[in-house]
Amino acid sequence: MRIDLHTHSDRSDGTESPATLVRRAHAEGIDVLGLTDHDTTEGWVDAADVAAEVGVTLVRGIEVSCTFRGYGVHLLAYLPDPTHGPLEAELRRVLDGRNARLPATLEKLRALGIDIDVHDVRKVAGETAAMGRPHVADALVSLGVVADRNEAFDRYLGPRGPAYVHRYAADLEQMIGTVGAAGGASVIAHPWAARHDHSALDERGLAHLQEVGLSGIEVDHVDHAAGARAALRAIASRLGLVVTGSSDNHGLGKVGHDLGCNTTDEDQLQRLLELAARAAAASGRSTPEVLGPIVR
Ligand code: AMP
Ligand code: ZN
Ligand code: FE
Ligand code: FE
Repeated sequence: MRIDLHTHSDRSDGTESPATLVRRAHAEGIDVLGLTDHDTTEGWVDAADVAAEVGVTLVRGIEVSCTFRGYGVHLLAYLPDPTHGPLEAELRRVLDGRNARLPATLEKLRALGIDIDVHDVRKVAGETAAMGRPHVADALVSLGVVADRNEAFDRYLGPRGPAYVHRYAADLEQMIGTVGAAGGASVIAHPWAARHDHSALDERGLAHLQEVGLSGIEVDHVDHAAGARAALRAIASRLGLVVTGSSDNHGLGKVGHDLGCNTTDEDQLQRLLELAARAAAASGRSTPEVLGPIVR
């Protein structure tokens, strides 16, 4: 059983449609696929249709942009009811922040002498519901300013880059509560990814987040070196957190994230699904069905 619980389609900043992503997952031997676009559930329906057709088990998720003690944290929300009012409202706020950031980013690029406007970005952003820096990067590629997304982040868009603009993100503790109230389970994505300051996500920080409803942490991820994985696995074991592993695949949008390059153990997935089912029962929110063999 190959379980990959964190991927992106072109409804956020992946490069494939949800349908194509699920078909490719099937072709590449993935049995259980989590679709976790940034801040949107737009891809769920198309992905579910194809998952049912090809026999992949789809776990519907969202990678929510959050902040905790001043730092950016990505929260994987699995199986929440997307029509839960507070969840919907907060995602709307995050998406509005993304849209508001775009003109400010382009203004900074123009001040650097780059001739780029919103149409250049819309042209390459396709079906996205979550406009982001990767789309600006793609526009810079199409204009011949940089060779790829990586160079765009290194030279302009990264946190210390000259065209970086801050945007709104949800409060992490509140969002964990909201996901639970929406009948879902929360997992911190790549908690110790090298590019972030992760001192707030030490054992004490994670224990605190568990008290407010956190279910698990993503341990096996390309951005974690072997030492970080071992340390995180030990913390998860001491605290009783679910351990996940995943590719964070973005199609052609990010190198080194091939589907299934990291995977989740079946028993850990079962625990995660049980926690989501428990949250759904407690909140009275009906969790959208998970298609496929695992939950039958
Ligand atoms: P945003 O959500 O607009 O703030 O942009 C962050 C997104 O950019 C995340 O999904 C990252 O996966 C992606 N990202 C960050 N650095 C890079 C990079 N060097 N190359 C490609 N994608 C990146
Ligand atoms: Zn992304
Ligand atoms: Fe992330
Ligand atoms: Fe991601």
